[in-house]
Amino acid sequence: MNVSRAPGELELVRAFVNTLDVEDAADELANPGALTGWLSAHGLLRGGTATRADLANARRLREALRVLLLANNGVSVRKEAAVTLNRAARRAGLGVRFEPVGTARVEPEARGVDGALGRLLAIVSVAMADGSWGRLKACRAEDCRWAFYDRARNRSRHWCSMAVCGNRTKARTFRRRHAA
Ligand SMILES: [Zn+2]
Repeated sequence: MNVSRAPGELELVRAFVNTLDVEDAADELANPGALTGWLSAHGLLRGGTATRADLANARRLREALRVLLLANNGVSVRKEAAVTLNRAARRAGLGVRFEPVGTARVEPEARGVDGALGRLLAIVSVAMADGSWGRLKACRAEDCRWAFYDRARNRSRHWCSMAVCGNRTKARTFRRRHAA
């Protein structure tokens, strides 16, 4: 098992953010068809196909989520991220649904891609409530930004991989310090 995987449904959020490989500029969501395919394959889209507007919304949401994951890693939050998240939540018609057995959950009203993205936001809100959210982080390396789940007892991980990003960043800092 990859130790960076998030528990339960939160792994879907991590996988969604990582559909863009920042380092290689490779985007799994390259076109509306690819978005339809990804959301369906991950059980988020139940019917319907993505449009160009859906694709733009999904990509915006992905980067807003990445901003939050950077905040979980001690990098300050940009205010626009919350605006984007709230817009997506509104489009999805996210609301609380109560069941006869005495439980409640956050669910989207909307169908199609708006609803599928809403399901991701519902997972985020549950993770924020149960405390697992703070462990989902984006790598601090500017050319990486890969999403990983920090299982360290004291939540001290900064890099997706100490061997790659950690050492590379340290070497760069070292060179910079010694260049002057
Ligand atoms: Zn990294």
